[in-house]
Amino acid sequence: MDDGLIRKAVRDFLTAIGEDPEREGLKETPDRVARACTELFAGYEQNAELSLERTFSIEAKQELVIIRDITFYSFCEHHMLPFSGKVHIGYIPGNGKVLGASKLIRVTEVFSRRLQLQERMTSQIAEAIYKATGELGVGVVAYGRHLCMTARGVKNPTSEMITSSMKGAFMQDDRLRQEFLRLVEPGGRNV
Ligand code: ZN
Repeated sequence: MDDGLIRKAVRDFLTAIGEDPEREGLKETPDRVARACTELFAGYEQNAELSLERTFSIEAKQELVIIRDITFYSFCEHHMLPFSGKVHIGYIPGNGKVLGASKLIRVTEVFSRRLQLQERMTSQIAEAIYKATGELGVGVVAYGRHLCMTARGVKNPTSEMITSSMKGAFMQDDRLRQEFLRLVEPGGRNV
C-alpha cells in the first residue's frame, strides 16, 4: 500500500469537494486516512490459504461444525462506502481435520478487508474453507447492511442483503443444509 499516494489523493479529494485541506481540523486527515487504510484494506496483503494452513485432528467423527456471528467490515467496490454485518460458517471436517475458530475469523477478514461485493466475499470465504477442510462441505451465509443503500441512492435504512454459498454436502444434502440454516438463523441461538 502506497501511503504517500493515499495522503495526496485524500488532500486532492478534500479540495475537490470544496474543503480547505489546510484548515485545523483537516490538516492531519490525509495522514489519519492513510493509517486507517492499512487496517481497513489489510486483506490485500493477506493470504487466505496461509491463514487456513494449520488444521488439527479430532478423534470423534464430527458431522457439522459451525461458527456463527462473525462480524465483518468491508467496503463496496461500486461506491467505496462501508458495508458490514455478520457471517455464519458451517463445514464438515474432512478426515477429521478441523480449523480453529480463529482461522474462520481470519479468513473472513482476509476477504472482507478490501473493496468487495458481498456476493463475492461470501463465495470466496466458502471456497477457501472448502479447500482447506477436505472438500466435503461448506455453507456460508452473510447478512450485510450497505451504506450505499441506506444513506444514498434508494435511502432504505432497514434493508439488509443476505448472501449464501453452499458447497459439497451443503449443496446436495437437504437435511444438512436445513440443519445449518436452522442453527444460524437468529432464533437458532436457543438450542
Ligand atoms: Zn455500493
